[in-house]
Amino acid sequence: MSVTTQPVIPPVALDSITQHIGNTPLVRLNRLPQSLGIEATVYAKLEFFNAGGSVKDRIALRMIEEAERSGRIKPGDTLIEPTSGNTGIGLALVGAVKGKLQNHYYPPREDVRRKGVRPAGPQCDHHPNPQRGRLRFPESHIGVARRLEKELPNAHILDQYCNLNNPLAHELGTAQEIWTQTKGEINAIVAGAGTGGTITGLARGLKKHNANIEVIAADPFGSILALPPTLNESRVNEPYKVEGIGYDFIPDVLDQKIVDRWYKTEDRESFQYSRRLIAEEGLLVGGSSGSAIAALVKANQEKKFSKDDVVVVILPDSIRSYLTKFADDDWLAANDLFPAAVPAETNAQAQ
Ligand code: PMP
Repeated sequence: MSVTTQPVIPPVALDSITQHIGNTPLVRLNRLPQSLGIEATVYAKLEFFNAGGSVKDRIALRMIEEAERSGRIKPGDTLIEPTSGNTGIGLALVGAVKGKLQNHYYPPREDVRRKGVRPAGPQCDHHPNPQRGRLRFPESHIGVARRLEKELPNAHILDQYCNLNNPLAHELGTAQEIWTQTKGEINAIVAGAGTGGTITGLARGLKKHNANIEVIAADPFGSILALPPTLNESRVNEPYKVEGIGYDFIPDVLDQKIVDRWYKTEDRESFQYSRRLIAEEGLLVGGSSGSAIAALVKANQEKKFSKDDVVVVILPDSIRSYLTKFADDDWLAANDLFPAAVPAETNAQAQ
């Protein structure tokens, strides 16, 4: 039977691309959770529909507009941001729309995304961080950004790690959208943590509507964000390949205690779930989306969701930045991540 999908987004013209940040779709997952033995209704919040392609566009917009409003920055100033990539893209995009703002950003390992934003004007520099565990080392991307802020005239680090507009973008934006889109029928939220702005803001924004909403976070093995700290101890500073989540210090904006359940996630399962989101749900996501699914699966294994539960999972970005990485079988094989092991519950056939 042929089915015609009816679009639900009203066709209106926008004044600028920054109006296409936020109000991302919430889409039901129809195969993957079912095949993993998860009975709850699971919705995915598709953050790759933001203008710059990730959840970080939201904080870029809010950090810049609040800094403008307060008079901290003016056109022509230089913005510097240490970032693994997505915040840099967001800042470059918002800066481009707003005229003369320039952006510099310093990704530790992301050449593909760096090339992607260069046409938008930022002068980009690449600072590999060979000394894991020492992100605040002077030659790390954070150390270099801090030095440049002092050296360059009218330069500012808006600093996603400390800036309250990072979690606020999610408390006032993402969380409210989810509350509205689920009509308040939500029992749990799942997201990965990098700076922690997403999970902290979501928790604050949703728990003020309903304190019983459970907040579940993913933190990769090798990172130290999870609580209790014993969760992190077995594999401290072990390198991992999933990008955008996990740190070797606790960012100021992360409220670790507001998370009800932390789960440690592996590269192998994360990439496998991302590939399954693509193959089975048609969602062209990046690797940290798979980590969020891994946390969902572990949460369900520990305490089964019921069929009446509604769970929302944040999918932060798209496959765009990873075409030569986990999307590529050869890359997975070269990194000993392919073929991915299939967790026991995934053997059931998709509906
Ligand atoms: N996934 C990806 C791909 C990201 O770039 C980020 C941002 N570092 C996150 C997840 C986590 O978001 P947050 O910084 O808000 O914790």
